Amino acid sequence: MAVERTLSIIKPDATERNLTGSIIAKLEEAGLRVVAQKRVRWTKEQAEKFYEVHKERPFYGELVAFMTSGPIVVQVLEGENAVLKNREVMGATDPAKADAGTIRKEFAENIERNSVHGSDSLDNAAAEIALNFDEHEIVG
Ligand code: ADP
Ligand code: MG
Repeated sequence: MAVERTLSIIKPDATERNLTGSIIAKLEEAGLRVVAQKRVRWTKEQAEKFYEVHKERPFYGELVAFMTSGPIVVQVLEGENAVLKNREVMGATDPAKADAGTIRKEFAENIERNSVHGSDSLDNAAAEIALNFDEHEIVG
């Protein structure tokens, strides 16, 4: 295993319900270190660019509207096997299918308002981190 970095986002449904701290606690308990973090509100253009891979999916427009509907917390997480570890602690996209104890099982409202984003591969993590952070903002 190797030390990796991955991009995490606490989504508007979670910031709205004051779940930022509870979610960070779950990430830290899983051994993931928060090495960069900022609370921002995305423009439509930023959300469209971030989710460009889903452009052809039927939920793309709604997803962009959701992700710009309120503040989000964008983070870089660091740790052994961080990409997969974060996906495990997040749980399945649909909270109804997520394992007990995962962030989405405990906190998500539905398949769209599912509280967190996490990069799905090391390559995508690097691209998503570069899109959201300058190197000097990441303090490992
Ligand atoms: P994940 O976030 O688990 O990697 P995807 O990359 O497939 O999931 O989808 C990106 C995001 O789009 C999801 O986290 C969720 O917010 C939203 N989404 C996915 N599938 C649906 C759906 N069927 N209906 C509405 N929103 C969806
Ligand atoms: Mg995804």
